[in-house]
Amino acid sequence: MALEEYRKKRDFSKTPEPAGNVEKRAAKARFFCVQKHLASHLHYDFRLEHNGVLLSWAVPKGPSLDPKVKRLAMKVEDHPFDYGEFEGVIPEGYGAGIVMLWDRGTWTPEVDDVDAALKKGDLKFTLTGYKLKGSWVLVRTSGRYPGARGGAGDGSRSWLLIKHRDDWAGELDITEFAPLSVKSKGDFEDILGADTPAVWQTNRPAKGGDAGAMLATIIERAAKLKAKRVNTKDTKKKASTKRTTQSSKKSRKRT
Ligand code: MN
Repeated sequence: MALEEYRKKRDFSKTPEPAGNVEKRAAKARFFCVQKHLASHLHYDFRLEHNGVLLSWAVPKGPSLDPKVKRLAMKVEDHPFDYGEFEGVIPEGYGAGIVMLWDRGTWTPEVDDVDAALKKGDLKFTLTGYKLKGSWVLVRTSGRYPGARGGAGDGSRSWLLIKHRDDWAGELDITEFAPLSVKSKGDFEDILGADTPAVWQTNRPAKGGDAGAMLATIIERAAKLKAKRVNTKDTKKKASTKRTTQSSKKSRKRT
C-alpha cells in the first residue's frame, strides 16, 4: 500500500500530521508543494502529486533557480495528498520540528508516462507555484553524489533537482529572497506561536523531557535563523547607507 511507510513512521495520536488517504482525483489536476522543514536539519520537502499520493524528495539546500546548480534531492516515502497543505509543529517522533508550507501550486509532467520516467530516473516537469515556476527536472544519480547519505542501497534514493534554462531561471537565491510561508505568510517562530494549543497541550504531558528538550532546541534554532536573516538585512542596509553617506556630506553629519 502506497502510504505504508509514511504511517509506519508516525504515531497519529501524538502528531498533528494527517494520517491521510490515497486520493482519487482527476488526472489533470496535479498538486505540488514544497515544505520547509526545520527538524534535526533544515531541509525542503519537495512533493509532487501522482496517483493519489505525494511523491516526496527531501532537498537539504532547497530548490535553486540557477540551472548550473544541481540540488541533491533524497527520495523519501510517499506522503498522503492531505499532507500537502500541512503547516505546523510536529511535537515529537519522526520529523519532529516545524513544517512551513513554503510553496504550492500545480505541476505538469513534460512526459507522457510519469511512472516510466520515475523508473528511468529522469522526470521533466513544469511548475506553476508562487515561487517556483517553469521547467525543471529530477534526475536519479548513480548514488555516489557528494552529500548523499552513505551506505549501500541508499544510492537509488539520491536524485538531483535541476532548473531548466527558461524565463523563470536566474541567479536569485529564492530560499533567501522568499523565506516565508505561502499559507500563513509567517516564519518558523510565527508557526510555532500560532500552533493549535489543543494539539500541543493534549500531547504535552505524555512527552517527557526529551520532547521538551527537542522543542527548546527548535525554538532556539528558529530564533537563530531569524537573527541571521535580520543581520543580513542590516548589513545590506548599512552598505547602502555607506554609499549614501560617501556621496553626501550632509547625511554624514547626520549619522
Ligand atoms: Mn522533512
